[in-house]
Amino acid sequence: MIKPFVGSYPITQGFSGKHKAIDFGLPCGTEVRAAEGDLVVFARFGWNRGYGNEIAIRRGARETRYCHLSEIYVSEGQWVKETQIIGKSGRSGFVIPIFGKGCHLHFEVFDNGLLRNPLEYFDTTSPTPPATPTIEVRYYTVIRGDTLSIIAKKYYGNANLWPKIYNANRDKIKNANLIYPGQNLRIP
Ligand SMILES: [Zn+2]
Repeated sequence: MIKPFVGSYPITQGFSGKHKAIDFGLPCGTEVRAAEGDLVVFARFGWNRGYGNEIAIRRGARETRYCHLSEIYVSEGQWVKETQIIGKSGRSGFVIPIFGKGCHLHFEVFDNGLLRNPLEYFDTTSPTPPATPTIEVRYYTVIRGDTLSIIAKKYYGNANLWPKIYNANRDKIKNANLIYPGQNLRIP
């Protein structure tokens, strides 16, 4: 497992009985990477019990979680590789802005269902991950007469894939039947 970012940032809150995670002081908008690969169990926007926009990736009996994100570039059910950019740091959910604007990465490691200290899992012998190119994020501006199905058809050739677009834009779309001309939608 690698650290879920490139470079070094301070730990702003360590692992304890009350905080079974590590907070890394990533400035707002820093690229967050998969600490290890495999299946995206969830990638969701919202309050999420205070964790904000969050992603979970499962590899065997382990799961890594990335919370308080500002951007999410992956979707549930997708397979990702270690070091892949999966989102950007932010301060969504419950964040106390003690350090600067409050942006940080709350990073958790579940091992066989138990929250463990992530620092014990990082592979210190592995080199710093290469700065792979940023995944290009596509955006689409809604025009009159558009529906999510029409946009899904346009991009994926399959109208039934509209939930992919819906899930990637939950911060903007409250009701899947209501999108408005001029809205800028992320196309995953
Ligand atoms: Zn935390």
